[in-house]
Amino acid sequence: MIIDCHGHYTTSPRPHEGWRGEQIEAHKAGKPPPPRPRITDDEIRESIANGQLKVQRERGTDLTIFSPRAAGMRHHLGDATTSEAWASACNELIHRVCALFRKNFIGVAMLPQSARVSPKNCIPEIDRCVNEYGFVGINLNPDPSGGHWQDPPLSDRYWYPVYEKMVEYDIPAMIHVSASCNPTHHTTGAHYLNGDTAGFNQLMTSSVFKDFPTIKFIIPHGGGAVAYHWGRYRGLAQDAKLGLLSNLMLKNVFFDTCVYHLPGQELLAKVIPIDNILFASEMIGAVRGIDPETGHHYDDTKRYIDQLPLSATDKAKIFEGNARRVYGRLSAMIEKQSAR
Ligand SMILES: [Zn+2]
Repeated sequence: MIIDCHGHYTTSPRPHEGWRGEQIEAHKAGKPPPPRPRITDDEIRESIANGQLKVQRERGTDLTIFSPRAAGMRHHLGDATTSEAWASACNELIHRVCALFRKNFIGVAMLPQSARVSPKNCIPEIDRCVNEYGFVGINLNPDPSGGHWQDPPLSDRYWYPVYEKMVEYDIPAMIHVSASCNPTHHTTGAHYLNGDTAGFNQLMTSSVFKDFPTIKFIIPHGGGAVAYHWGRYRGLAQDAKLGLLSNLMLKNVFFDTCVYHLPGQELLAKVIPIDNILFASEMIGAVRGIDPETGHHYDDTKRYIDQLPLSATDKAKIFEGNARRVYGRLSAMIEKQSAR
């Protein structure tokens, strides 16, 4: 089985994103939001059948761990109330996709975060998504201000209410920022990779893994700059007397394979232990074009893994085994969804 642990609903029906615009306009005008649009099962079916499902089939992958569009979270807009309503609408839509395509998608929640609002307010949404929807993870935005970094680092106890829930439910968090509203930080070219790198560094210099020994984080986009600069982080950990970086981080931190060329994937597999790498493509996402050097889509990351000089056992870990281990509720959910 090939499990893609990083996909977003970037093809959601237009009225859904349209409502978000109206909601924010209403908020600015001090008015209540309009009622949410009615989205039919057929609209959802069409958006998936011609989108992510088609790509899964073309590329030979089986299951996508699926969450709302990351750049669309825009936690910097509105306030805690608008974030709650928007997260609720987005997660509900993911649940409907997973219910319509039970073998192909399993959900991950976006959280109703807002800059400088305690993430305690995310707890009811996490409870709902795990208990009612069967979601197996969350996306945690370390910078809800959208590129201005106004919240405490992930090392701070500020985030502990979310960490407690992650451990209670055995759900990992993917550290995933949203759109940047800071023009110096392009959303997908800089802010995403900065968020990944900063998140890793914040956790490295923290006592989070002492306080939560079983907690798990996924650093997407191949870990930002982390794998390329592994020696720097090893040295920083050593200078700060934190011990060996691998002992410090690799029981709790995992990297996805959203690196869009073979040399990057080779580096990731060389530097990061195989047990810590999870297959992902983030299709249909940030980079949609075809690489003229290969003739294939940049985000067709399975092709790169196929080319790595690894044993079949190691490849099976990257494609399936590691995801089942990191997402503690995944195997049970796969069984439940394929049984119906
Ligand atoms: Zn993403």
